[in-house]
Amino acid sequence: MENLWDPTKANGLDELDKLVYMTNLIGADSSLVVWGGGNTSIKTIEKDFMGNEAPAMWIKGSGSDMKSMVRSQFPRLNHENIMPLFERDDMSDEDMVDYLERCLMDAHSPRPSIETLLHAFLPFMSVAHSHADAVVSLTNNDDSVSVLSDVYGDRIAVVDYYRPGFKLSKLVGLAVKNSPHLDGVVLMNHGLFTWGNDTKEAYDKHISLVTKAEEYIAKGRPSVFGLISPRAIEGENRKTLASTLGPYIRGLVSEQQGTVLRYDSSAAVVEFMSSEKGQILSSIGPATPDHLIHTKRRPLWIDPVDIGNIDAIKAAINEAMSQYVKEYTAWYQEHTLQEHPMLDPYPRVILMPGVGMWTTGKDAHAARIVADIYHHTINVIAGAQAVGEYSSLTAQDVYDAEYWPLELYKLTIAPPEKELARKVALVTGAASGIGKTIAERLASEGAHVVVTDLDGSAANAVAADIVATNGFGRAIGVELDVSDPDSVAKAFESTRLEYGGLDLLVSNAGIAPVGAIDKLDLSDWQRSLDINTTGHFLVAAKAVQIMKEQDLGGSIVFIGTKNVPAPGAEFGAYSVSKAAEVQLARVLALETGASGIRVNIVNPDAIFEGSQLWSQSLREERAAAHGVSVDDLETFYHERTLLKRQVRSSDVAETVLFLASERASRTTGAMIPVDGGVKEAFPR
Ligand code: ZN
Repeated sequence: MENLWDPTKANGLDELDKLVYMTNLIGADSSLVVWGGGNTSIKTIEKDFMGNEAPAMWIKGSGSDMKSMVRSQFPRLNHENIMPLFERDDMSDEDMVDYLERCLMDAHSPRPSIETLLHAFLPFMSVAHSHADAVVSLTNNDDSVSVLSDVYGDRIAVVDYYRPGFKLSKLVGLAVKNSPHLDGVVLMNHGLFTWGNDTKEAYDKHISLVTKAEEYIAKGRPSVFGLISPRAIEGENRKTLASTLGPYIRGLVSEQQGTVLRYDSSAAVVEFMSSEKGQILSSIGPATPDHLIHTKRRPLWIDPVDIGNIDAIKAAINEAMSQYVKEYTAWYQEHTLQEHPMLDPYPRVILMPGVGMWTTGKDAHAARIVADIYHHTINVIAGAQAVGEYSSLTAQDVYDAEYWPLELYKLTIAPPEKELARKVALVTGAASGIGKTIAERLASEGAHVVVTDLDGSAANAVAADIVATNGFGRAIGVELDVSDPDSVAKAFESTRLEYGGLDLLVSNAGIAPVGAIDKLDLSDWQRSLDINTTGHFLVAAKAVQIMKEQDLGGSIVFIGTKNVPAPGAEFGAYSVSKAAEVQLARVLALETGASGIRVNIVNPDAIFEGSQLWSQSLREERAAAHGVSVDDLETFYHERTLLKRQVRSSDVAETVLFLASERASRTTGAMIPVDGGVKEAFPR
């Protein structure tokens, strides 16, 4: 492992900035810490609020991520107030958290790391802690005692596995007090602590000890997972199969709470799953409690047996899933003291040899964290197999980590989820106008959105904006011609692969050709039917297939038009094709109600804002037909409504959101106008 300390960057920084620099360096290497793991600290002399000098400790705040931390994420504690705790024999987690909160030197600073006491008890200026894969490999094997002594001799102390808290902190503090010459402490099934008289020394020792572990592993056995069987099916077929199976798996794991899936068929995962020992090794247990919180104790392993038979694979998935839930429930019952109800018993990591890995999460970001962490679990297993046989925490320790009150407490203080959290939506014609506003509105309420449009690059741009505003993975852009069955099939395959399924469809894409029927070109008539009728049929059919495979219900909203109940002269091609769309929606409501899928219609009118439908030529043509100027056309339309108000795309989006949400859970087959009030267009 390369030592990345750059004196030209670090020299001249104040001590806290040096700590930030070291923290970011360690955080940037995912083989040292992944997503929120690890922590660092320094001890300095600071002025307290009275202006008196006091020994202080700056430490990583709980829940922050080392790769992106900044100064304000390091709370400052009065070190002198903490140290009397070292004389105590025991302390509960709750008392420790309360006590440390009183040691904070600044009001409103973030909560300090749960490993604060351990840092405090080490009598050194700077301390660095990681969960380095290589070091955990050395602790997680049946031969760890001699392996650790081979690698480090007497330069380190080894401390048995305990959950972070007072006891572990005291054990480490005592070990170092008794042997002050040590370079570091290795915590079994957990990670590495190093220290120094300044930040650089703590970092240098850390990198040096991790490098020793890496070098030792590199000299170990080469074939760590046993023989690799050629089970992996080839690229494109693998993706097709994964997209076929995604919604079925998503339906099963979402029974208690919705999840988003992430599919991964990277070489490391495929190699692990295709190996002789993959299944056994994956069932042994998590690498560290830090991994466990995201991955659960074990992944679900599904042997698809006959890769060519979808029904047989689904049966195998179903069988394996029930078995998993049964085992999780039994494990919970064996260890619980009824202090906390059982968490959802479904897997976070699903491995299918030959096909790939799915990870699950409440959103795309969470599913990605699980995937990243499982890659590191595989690394740790590989390292452990190079030097011995992989071993893990005991079932009791795993239970104590998963049901750790301090970890569960985090769930209770999390902000309430948004209305469409855990949902996946697909919106057609979403690169501009009403469709774009709808996509953005659904995303702002927590949905993941597949932004589709004939203009693929414009769809990508809208998706990128949604991601920038709402977070990682919250949208993808997909080029889609709704009138082309192949294009529709591809867009829905992308959706299945990206998120594992679909909950909401907003069928919006449309065109509005103008012309009296006796003058209309057949091609314009046909194009209108292709997009405004057949387009809705094609996307709705694909959406319903996914929703039925998931068996989680769903909501479909068709964007109709005022012209359905109240057609306009010279809008024959448009009015006829949109009326057919509405009839399609109603038949679909009849056919899908029993599957819990709701189908509703929104009828907007005269929305000009950002609209592609209202092209310049259509505006000129309509202005002439009504005898007004182009500039006055929008006002002309508003003035003829009952409410005499401008109708905006955000008004349509609000109605779509309502119909998509659980608030409309008893409404299907409905048609809601969003037109400012046009009495000829009252639904009847
Ligand atoms: Zn740790």
